[in-house]
Amino acid sequence: MIWNESSECMRPDEMRDLQNKRLRTTVERVYHNSTFYRSRMQEMGVSPMDIETIDDLVKLPFTVKTDLRDQYPFGLFSAPMSEIVRLHASSGTTGKPIVAGYTRKDLGTWSEVMARTFAAGGCSRNDIFQIAYGYGLFTGGLGAHYGAEMLGASVIPISAGNTEKQIQLMTDFGSTALCCTPSYALYLAEAIQEMGVRDKLKLRCGFFGAEPWTEEMRREIENKLKIKAFDIFGLTEIIGPGVAYDCEAQSGMHINEDHFLPEIINPQTLQPVAPGEIGELVFTTITKEGMPVIRYRTKDLTSLTYETCSCGRTSVRMHKIMGRSDDMLIIRGVNVFPSQIESVLLEFGEAAPHYHIFVDRANNTDTFEVHVEVRPENFSDDLSSMLNLRKRIEARIQSVVGIHAQVKLVEPRSIERSTGKAKRVTDNRKLY
Ligand code: ADP
Ligand code: ZN
Repeated sequence: MIWNESSECMRPDEMRDLQNKRLRTTVERVYHNSTFYRSRMQEMGVSPMDIETIDDLVKLPFTVKTDLRDQYPFGLFSAPMSEIVRLHASSGTTGKPIVAGYTRKDLGTWSEVMARTFAAGGCSRNDIFQIAYGYGLFTGGLGAHYGAEMLGASVIPISAGNTEKQIQLMTDFGSTALCCTPSYALYLAEAIQEMGVRDKLKLRCGFFGAEPWTEEMRREIENKLKIKAFDIFGLTEIIGPGVAYDCEAQSGMHINEDHFLPEIINPQTLQPVAPGEIGELVFTTITKEGMPVIRYRTKDLTSLTYETCSCGRTSVRMHKIMGRSDDMLIIRGVNVFPSQIESVLLEFGEAAPHYHIFVDRANNTDTFEVHVEVRPENFSDDLSSMLNLRKRIEARIQSVVGIHAQVKLVEPRSIERSTGKAKRVTDNRKLY
């Protein structure tokens, strides 16, 4: 066993004891080592003595993305720089990036949770891992790399992009597990299909995350690549990938709750929601040293289930991410998530899972256009069949999201492919 004190199959009371103990240690740590957290706690009149169990979490302050930006670069660290051995940063869409610092112990924790992720997908030291997440400041590449090494697998640190070389090495080295974003997995799947080399590959599973993707997209990737596709979830602020992972049952991601305590809150009232309800995911890290975070609001929307999984693991599971509150578009007053559009499109056998949403303003009203690629085998000059397909997609979007979208069918391969996180929305209203 590579994990001794903690486990993903603990009895609930044992897990709770461990979490209580670790939460107390973390609160002591941030109170004494972080000016930021000490003053936040003092403002709220809370001291470490008030925190005995995880039920006391609600007494603690939230941390939000702007707090991390305001503390750029190292203001949220709870360890001296002499103990920090690695720095990562998330791209962030606006302003300064968010920086994370890891002590040696944090790197060990990260490898451990990633090794668990891969083991839950049935992988072992006998696997050959092709790591096609980007290496660098982004946590995807190195996070997966060290996890696969800890598992004892053979690791190919190829990074993202260079699709032909990816496929060549995948063939020659006999890679059995692929790690990359779901968008890049789809791109690779198409290229493999075009090159007609699927039968030469030994690939049998993939660990895909870093961006939202639907169940329909999972089936598409599984069918195209003839593999089992596991969802993996994480974010730089918490540790990187390895916060939660799919098991073979693929029925919600198991959260590594011996390291990361989840809560779901109503983003308006900030109160916890009832079990099973959808809301904003919040995490408190309970073993990190470099940059522990307390009640970090992820902006990711999901729900939790505490039922034991059919795989036997007892850890709490999170539903696939339904979207990020900042990805939510409000079009003509209606909330629209890109994932809803993805699900609709993949119901149509003729539509490829490549799309782009354009939102703009004209004559004082929002315009909503969805460009959809048609699968090569379905693309035709027969205008009436294309018009019919367009009308059917428009009707389905209307019934699912409640407003009309103008669908434009575009030629196969005309929508840009992504080797990392895909960008599927252009909202020009922001320019006004
Ligand atoms: P950046 O801010 O540069 O995107 P991160 O890589 O830290 O940096 O992004 C983390 C975010 O990516 C999460 O908060 C979540 O929104 C998204 N994400 C990560 N993994 C998944 C996943 N498996 N499913 C859905 N969204 C994910
Ligand atoms: Zn399970």
